[in-house]
Amino acid sequence: MTARVKQTWAALSDIGRVRTHNEDSVLAQPPLFVVADGLGGHEAGEVASSMAVETLRDHAPRKPDAKALARAVRAANREVMRAAREGLGRQGMGTTMTAAIVEGTRIAIAQVGDSRAYLLHAGQLERVTEDHSMVADMIRMGQLTEAESRYHPNRSVITRALGTDPNMTADPYEFDADPGDRLLLCSDGLTSMLEDAAIGEMLAQYRDPTVAARALVDAANDAGGHDNISVVIVDVEGEGSRAGAAVDPSGTRAGRGMLAIIGWVLLFAVVVGGIAYGTWRYAWSRAYVTQTASAAPSEGATTTAVVTVYRGVPGTLAGITLNQLVEQTTIPVSALPPGDQAKVARTVRLNNLSDAEELVAKYRALAAASGVTSGTVPSASPDASATGQ
Ligand code: MG
Repeated sequence: MTARVKQTWAALSDIGRVRTHNEDSVLAQPPLFVVADGLGGHEAGEVASSMAVETLRDHAPRKPDAKALARAVRAANREVMRAAREGLGRQGMGTTMTAAIVEGTRIAIAQVGDSRAYLLHAGQLERVTEDHSMVADMIRMGQLTEAESRYHPNRSVITRALGTDPNMTADPYEFDADPGDRLLLCSDGLTSMLEDAAIGEMLAQYRDPTVAARALVDAANDAGGHDNISVVIVDVEGEGSRAGAAVDPSGTRAGRGMLAIIGWVLLFAVVVGGIAYGTWRYAWSRAYVTQTASAAPSEGATTTAVVTVYRGVPGTLAGITLNQLVEQTTIPVSALPPGDQAKVARTVRLNNLSDAEELVAKYRALAAASGVTSGTVPSASPDASATGQ
């Protein structure tokens, strides 16, 4: 469009009512607008999302070119992975990313994860992007309804993110909006708290984007504020409208057409990649306690089987190790009661790392009470390896 087109927008990110950190990052630097929702716990999610946004800003095209924008998201992905390898943040950190370039009525979007883009057109809210999440896959397969997905235990499991897969791709969308339409980018802290209908009503009600952004964040907080809430609102302003301005809501938007063009081959890769990421993310939330051989103090000396904690799950999947050594303790397995010795030898799987650490504390107390200080390694060795992700 022409230089006479002005643009009004608002961006707001809020910690919510439950979380101790805001791991979301937003950017509003016309024509570029971004929402990224970091994952990884502690401060790692913040590192991942802010780093991804900064890298995207450096690589994003200046024009609404969805493919170029998707390439910039891939650059951000490589940067997050490089940072994790070099010890910034932590291994396993990641982030979603929903990025838009808006020029007049032309909009290009690239998206990874479950942060969304919506378009308010003629008072109706249309979802532009498709989530990369476990529940979205289940809805697409007809296994779950939208309403059920809001309460599903795996509703926050995403199947694609920046930071984990060097071959990750972003979904590109490109379309023409009409003057007066309103683009919304948001993290799941908004959409998990509010139904689409409520979001649409508020976007239609408050014409000032700053007021609308504040209203959305306040409503999400009033509904519980379970997660960080980020919203970016961009008002589409332009001269005239595209030919035949009546929008066909059934999907003439080029983004949907483009998804079809990407074709089955890419879709297959996406599904496989998604499943792998879902599996990895599940594995990474788990922990287990097993025995490993402590280093022999000198040549010919016997090694001791000691209690050892891993994050993840034992073994590998398609050649990928799904565990990482957390702690090889000095607790001899032989110091435990026979029942516990057998359990440790077989590997005790736990829901999370803090459960594992609790169990180790119990074993430490039992070992101290027994007075045993050394033992030998039984022949059945666990399949766990100490290699990290
Ligand atoms: Mg979130």
